[in-house]
Amino acid sequence: MAGCVAQQEGDQLLDRIPYLDLVIGTHAIPMLPQLLQKIEVSGEKVCETSFDQDGKYLKSVLPEKSLEKVKSYVTVMQGCDHFCSFCIVPYVRGRERSRPSLEIIEEVGHLAEKGVKEVCLLGQNVNGYGKGLGEGINFSGLLERVNKIEGIERIRFTTSHPKDLSEELIQCFSKLEKLCEHIHLPFQSGSDRILKAMHRGYIKGSYLEKIDRLKKVCPTIAITADVIVGFPGEEEEDFRETLDLMEKVQFDDLFSFNYSPRKGTRAARFEDKIEGKVKQERLSVLQAIQREVTLQRNQALEGREEEILVEGLSKQSPQDVTGRTRSNKIVNFEGDLGLVGKLVSVRITKACPHSLRGQVVENHE
Ligand code: SF4
Repeated sequence: MAGCVAQQEGDQLLDRIPYLDLVIGTHAIPMLPQLLQKIEVSGEKVCETSFDQDGKYLKSVLPEKSLEKVKSYVTVMQGCDHFCSFCIVPYVRGRERSRPSLEIIEEVGHLAEKGVKEVCLLGQNVNGYGKGLGEGINFSGLLERVNKIEGIERIRFTTSHPKDLSEELIQCFSKLEKLCEHIHLPFQSGSDRILKAMHRGYIKGSYLEKIDRLKKVCPTIAITADVIVGFPGEEEEDFRETLDLMEKVQFDDLFSFNYSPRKGTRAARFEDKIEGKVKQERLSVLQAIQREVTLQRNQALEGREEEILVEGLSKQSPQDVTGRTRSNKIVNFEGDLGLVGKLVSVRITKACPHSLRGQVVENHE
């Protein structure tokens, strides 16, 4: 068993689950081969949940990726220093640790040589990249370096914390031609009172200011986010603030969740829990509104020509290929395997709730 629960519960899991041989924590994944060998040799059950404080395993978090891919994820940092009251990540993934920039550049260069066209730089809070690294580089600096790598056509990143989204990073959306026009910026709630209880470190107004800056610097930017409904103490008025924030931003898509307590977090001990029925009703209202907005945002692209990076054959039809716009929307259109990995101009002909339909105008390559 691996992941956050494995990290949190540790060897108690071995007692509880008789057929379990190995519990492996979030920092120990690179030790998997040695741990398996240990089990084979000794026949004993193993639990490894120690933290890699000095980051020596960060590099090997990344085994060589399977290489006939058009896009690839590259971990640039791990962990989080924020301690939002609902979140278990800082406890089970540890504090923020960044990989040396040279390692990242080498890895992206290697991926480009193997034909990867798009990289997504990954971390729990990529905006915190560089802290404690002693290189004098921040995330914007890293993006600038990745932007220069030949063969890479598109750069994305996830996830950003609104509090740490700097003006310098916002400016990257106009400055760096390979940085795609999409940002995932979780807001979690539109109520200042709830944001404070969540320990998010920003208020609704400052979140909206950053959204305004993003839209000014990059008018075509697509914005997606995470939101939690029914956090302890959330009143109708707080929920309306969340809907108001959504109305103002007009998100391209939202990942919305009912609050559920995570053992070991501060919010799990809050007493003013919201009844399940109320949470569900609020979530349904919010999701119905977002479905409409997502469709409208997709419809706004009808008739427009978009650059699509073709990722493969469509699952729906063997006559179609599928790819994404720079704003990260899925587009299906007629084509064959020969288009995979190519940048193609496609006219959007129809907007659907979760994807777009299009027609090739021109193959850039
Ligand atoms: S929600 Fe995100 S920013 Fe907050 S503690 Fe968890 S990982 Fe960190």
